Amino acid sequence: MNIEMLYLLQELEARETKIQKQIKRLPQLSQLRLIKEKYETGQKNLAEKNDCLKETARRLKKLKNQAVDLEAKEKELTGVLYDGSVQNPKELENLQQKLDDAKEQNDILSNEIITLMVEKDDLENEAKEISAALKVMYNEFNQLKGQYSRIKIELEQELTAVIEDKNKLITQIDQKWLSWFKEQREKYAGTPVGKITESHFCSGCRTVVPTAVVRQARFQNGDIFCEQCGRLLFAPKIS
Ligand SMILES: [Zn+2]
Repeated sequence: MNIEMLYLLQELEARETKIQKQIKRLPQLSQLRLIKEKYETGQKNLAEKNDCLKETARRLKKLKNQAVDLEAKEKELTGVLYDGSVQNPKELENLQQKLDDAKEQNDILSNEIITLMVEKDDLENEAKEISAALKVMYNEFNQLKGQYSRIKIELEQELTAVIEDKNKLITQIDQKWLSWFKEQREKYAGTPVGKITESHFCSGCRTVVPTAVVRQARFQNGDIFCEQCGRLLFAPKIS
């Protein structure tokens, strides 16, 4: 039985887990969520602005109609006042008072109209700004989504390849050692095989493996365990 295969299986499993985690935690995904949230808030703001704008336009129209009526009234009063049909000083004074009132009302109305027009202008500008920001966000979202999809597809392809390699490898490993590997996997957090490094460290527990044990592991190929952590020791061939 070749311990190297078991070690390779361990590496493939680690790679598989790592890719799965990468797919789930792609930074683009959280960025996409964030943009989506901002976009929805922007859309809500825009809808609110448009509602305000509609209401302002409605009020403005009403005031403008009132101004037209008032002007007609002013014209009418001026006509009556100066066409000579009224001679009575009391009545004339009355008419003049009415005309003054109408003019005063018209002034107030004009001011209100100007204020509302400025408000409407501001609202229109704000709505335009929000629309522009939404457009930028929309483009950013789509660009990022494309990027996310590409990376995800690449990782998924890599994952498929790793799983294929793993399954192929499994068919070549002794059933006895495969069972041992599966049993021990959890205990050693996925690494029941310790590779002896060039400087004679056990890759699992990072302690030095005695030279005699290294030699045994190199020639015996199996059944040699780390004295410190109990992992099965794999000694790569010296190249
Ligand atoms: Zn060890």
